[in-house]
Order: sequence, then structure tokens, then C-alpha cells
Amino acid sequence: MEEILPGLYRVEVPLPRNPLRSVNSYVVRGEGRDLIVDTGMNREECASVLLRELRELGVDPRRADFFITHLHADHLGLVSSLRSGDSLVYFNRPEAELLSSWERMGGVILLTGIPDEELLRMMQTHPGRLYGPSALPPFTFVGEGSRIEVGEFSFTCVETPGHTRGHLCLYEPRRRLLLSGDHLLGDITPNLSPLSEEENPLGDYLRSLERTASLDVELVLPGHRRPFRDHRARVEELKLHHRLRAEEVLSLLEEGRKTAYELASEMTWDLEGPWESFPPIQRWFATGEALAHLRYLEEEGRVRRVEEGGGIRWELSARLSQGLG
Ligand SMILES: [Zn+2]
Repeated sequence: MEEILPGLYRVEVPLPRNPLRSVNSYVVRGEGRDLIVDTGMNREECASVLLRELRELGVDPRRADFFITHLHADHLGLVSSLRSGDSLVYFNRPEAELLSSWERMGGVILLTGIPDEELLRMMQTHPGRLYGPSALPPFTFVGEGSRIEVGEFSFTCVETPGHTRGHLCLYEPRRRLLLSGDHLLGDITPNLSPLSEEENPLGDYLRSLERTASLDVELVLPGHRRPFRDHRARVEELKLHHRLRAEEVLSLLEEGRKTAYELASEMTWDLEGPWESFPPIQRWFATGEALAHLRYLEEEGRVRRVEEGGGIRWELSARLSQGLG
């Protein structure tokens, strides 16, 4: 556990056999009630570490409130087993709706072109399915500008859609702190995967990056790995990364029409070994990332979808000579 400031702590909750390695849970001491920001997955390896660290801090989760940055299982998973009946669970409305209507995912799956047997393999190991909350708690909805006061800290919610459609950061202007969830990470590029057909996660993400760059921040407290400074430099790196990725997608499509899944299998990834050796769940996230770039380029008028053999393939919409600008 790390004391960030008096009354504010980072607990590293392990994620065994997951390339993220761990997730950060932040604990803010209040008067009477404490606030726990993100929780870890709904699995014994997470619960035992978080409960031990909370005990060490003298924090009783049954008398705490929770703030969940976004719907992913490593952030939301444990909340249902930690909370009590009078804990508030602050969360965003768009993702609460998504969690209660997974059938909307069907449209996205059509856009990916993932073969059926491969989809089955991916879903069998999906962390949301394995380690999500056992039952959804009643949420207290917050959005842009909502204030949460805990002890000496006064947080403002900042909507940062992109990594997920309803992602929220917590900003503490007086101490110039940004609890960034998975919106800004120091040495990992947050995955962008649409979860419903109409989403344009990369377009949203680039707008959210501009929004966060405009904040006066001294220290970023991310959802994974260590806190870091100079958030504007990180924003520039992430923008450049996605510009290069979009260019890679365009150049691969010069060879002809592809499904998002085929495209993902040809893009470059930070994982060891060939595409076929990636764990199915990593192929799932990679396909989501490819689709996020396709949807962005589609909105920009650079690529278009074509129905072919009952599936969707993507092609360049016109001869391209200029860069992405
Ligand atoms: Zn996430």
C-alpha cells in the first residue's frame, strides 16, 4: 500500500494470469465514511488482498461508499461483495444500462467478423463473465460536474468516454489530482472496444484526451501501474499512437477488403509470438481495437463497410493520398 497524501492511499490489487498484473484501488479517508475508488475482480485473489489492506488502514468497507470509474470487471467486480446496504455506489448511467442489456452486444459482434467457434473460445474466458459482480448493486448515478466530498477532498466527476462509453475520472482541483481510471495510464495504451454498434470509441477518446489535457493536473492516479506526472505529455503520446494505428489500418486495407478480425490478425501488437498463439481473450480485445479504428475512420469518411456473404467487411472509401492530418 502507498500513501499518496495524508488520507489518500493506493492499494495494488493483484490480477493473477492477467497481463495487466494488478489494478489500483484508491482509498480516501472521510469523517465517518470513507470512499473506495475501484475494487478489483470478483475473485478470491483480489478480495483477500484488498480486505487485508483495508483492515490495515482501519477502513470497514461495509461503512464505506464506492466510486467505480467504469464497468470492467477489474474495477467493478468486487463491489457487490464489499458493500453493505447503506453504501453508496457512484457509477455512470450509460454503462449501468449496458450491464442490464447485454443483448445489444450482438450488433457489435456482427461488425467484427469473428468466426463462431472463435467467439465461443473468447467468451469462455471473458473477465466480465468470469469475474464480474455476482449481482448489480443499486447505483447512485453521477456525471459531468457531479461533486463528491470526502474528508478534506472535494472531487468533481469528469466524463471521459472512450475506453468505455461512460468512463468517469475524479478530479481534485485544489490538490491537482486526477484519478484517471483506465482513461489515462502511464505505460499501457488503454484498450478501445465498442460495446454497441453506434459507438465511436476512438472519436470519443480523442475528445476526452483534449478534455483532460485542459485540466490543471500535477499527479495522475491511474487504474493500473504507478502514479505519474506530466499528463499533457502522455496525452500527446496517446494521440500519436492512435494516429499511427489509424494509418496502419488504412495501409492494410489498401490490400483489399477485410473483416475487423482479419485486420486485427495483421496489425502489430505488444504481445509475444504470432497471432494464433495469443490467448483468445487478447484476440478479442485486439479485434475490438481494430474495430474502434474502423468506426473512427468510417465516421471520418475514410473507410466504409460492405456486406459480403452475410458478414461485414471494411474497405477504403476513396483513393487516399493525404495523411490523417
Ligand atoms: Zn478498463
